[in-house]
Amino acid sequence: MLGLMQDWPLTVDKILDHAHSWFPQREVVTRSLEGPITRTTYGAIWGRAKQVTNALRGIGIVLGDRVATLAWNTERHLEAWYGAMSMGAVLHTVNPRLFPEQIAWIINHAEDKVLFFDTTFAPIVEKIAPLLKTVTTYVALTDRFNLPTGAIPNVIAYEDFIAGQSQDAQWGAFEENTACGLCYTSGTTGDPKGVLYSHRSNLLHAMAANSADCFGAGANDVVLPVVPMFHANAWAIAFVAPMCGAKLVMPGARLDGASVYELLESEKVTFTAAVPTVWLMLLNYLRETNSKLTTLKRVAIGGSAVPEAVLRAFEQDYGVEVIHAWGMTEMSPIGTIGKMLPEHYAQDRETQIKTKLKQGRALFTVDMKIVDDEGREKPHDGKAFGRLMVKGPAVARAYFKNAGARNAKGECLEEDGFFDTGDVATLDEIGVMQITDRAKDVIKSGGEWISSIDIENIAVGAEGVANAAVIGVVHPKWDERPLLIIEPKPGAAPTKAQLLAFLEGKIAKWWMPDDVVTVEKIPLGATGKINKLALRETFKDYRLPSTQAAE
Ligand code: AMP
Repeated sequence: MLGLMQDWPLTVDKILDHAHSWFPQREVVTRSLEGPITRTTYGAIWGRAKQVTNALRGIGIVLGDRVATLAWNTERHLEAWYGAMSMGAVLHTVNPRLFPEQIAWIINHAEDKVLFFDTTFAPIVEKIAPLLKTVTTYVALTDRFNLPTGAIPNVIAYEDFIAGQSQDAQWGAFEENTACGLCYTSGTTGDPKGVLYSHRSNLLHAMAANSADCFGAGANDVVLPVVPMFHANAWAIAFVAPMCGAKLVMPGARLDGASVYELLESEKVTFTAAVPTVWLMLLNYLRETNSKLTTLKRVAIGGSAVPEAVLRAFEQDYGVEVIHAWGMTEMSPIGTIGKMLPEHYAQDRETQIKTKLKQGRALFTVDMKIVDDEGREKPHDGKAFGRLMVKGPAVARAYFKNAGARNAKGECLEEDGFFDTGDVATLDEIGVMQITDRAKDVIKSGGEWISSIDIENIAVGAEGVANAAVIGVVHPKWDERPLLIIEPKPGAAPTKAQLLAFLEGKIAKWWMPDDVVTVEKIPLGATGKINKLALRETFKDYRLPSTQAAE
């Protein structure tokens, strides 16, 4: 027997429709690429997104066509986003931090027909345009006065592209499983793979991501997504904010500490989200300028583990609650959230800090387990670690064009239908998950596993350390031993003895790095995470003192 409720496909056009109907005056503020801070509203964005739809239809874009953006978080990006998705085109957010050749590869693989780009990326577009096989229209997200003058074929200014278009356009009217967005994973090995979100998965995920124990944002919040829209839908915030009527503050291209701080204060931001590297920059700025955070209440941190120093600084020095999130592009992206339970509130503060550094519990819509190499489930005792497997309506079933397929159906799943995250984790008795490493970064020493992430998180709190990375280096006796790589703060020069002394007692003895080296800059990948692959390459012939001693 079927239920007798209405048919209302879960499509994301309804999100902006809702904001237009019920929060038309709520502001969207942008640090524009042209310079000034601009102000608009959900009502106005809705109208201009309809114009985008009509302009796209005018150049022949139809259901299922891919439309790419190479853009920062701005109001125009949001308009293009909803204008394309709401008509059933697939919005492909391209990560501009990739190498130009990778960007060209991805756009060709996606067969994008239109490319919306910010003028800061005009040099990239100029370089790759001759390589692009399917793009017929290039739209610079600006007005005609700021149109890049370089050699980009068929380039048109966004304001001219939508000028004169009607604000009356049909949205929705397609099935909720229709493709909605496309985002390629960074692909540390092999070619990047496309994750193809559906309308239903995006909408369900946004509702889960904004549940009370996750972002918990509402119409009284002011939300600043520093996390870019090209990084897994800005962790759903591009959907969450209009859904709940929160004021939205878009940081444009300037993500440094001073610029983020200026927006946090001038727009009275209450909730913000980004990877740890962004917060390291902000916290350094706050300390250098002796500034306070007067309105910020919550900060979501994910993408890589929250360093202890960052957690302590936000919560103890600035009174801002840290929401530690774990997820991945294939999970839309949020999988777990580190909100505390009543059991945790009963603990002393130091134990609470340890709990908050873990990645947290599964969000509703996420099923999770840890298994050994044979697929047998590991116990939930907070000690045993295994491969972290997930399942859910907003978890990828297959990659675009069946890349990386693991079965005859083209799916990227194990036999039992779970997706292998590539992370290694523990789960404790009450379901709190802790990532102990990426399966490929874990350091295998004498048959045991050492978590590179754990050591990094502690080392980054040492005096004079700006960033820290740990990699496994080949060792004749133990297979691998940890090497600690340090990027010092300007003017600082922490010594090996000081750093090892700092780690003493904080990690198991046999986890102690065998050596410490200093580099000018720790390489970061396209999503702001430490590029372990590059470090392993740089130090592939590195001989540890303990190796020399063992020979
Ligand atoms: P991406 O798809 O580029 O967002 O990368 C996803 C990966 O980032 C995950 O599989 C984890 O390895 C890592 N990651 C994301 N969030 C966290 C976190 N809170 N702690 C540790 N690792 C994380």
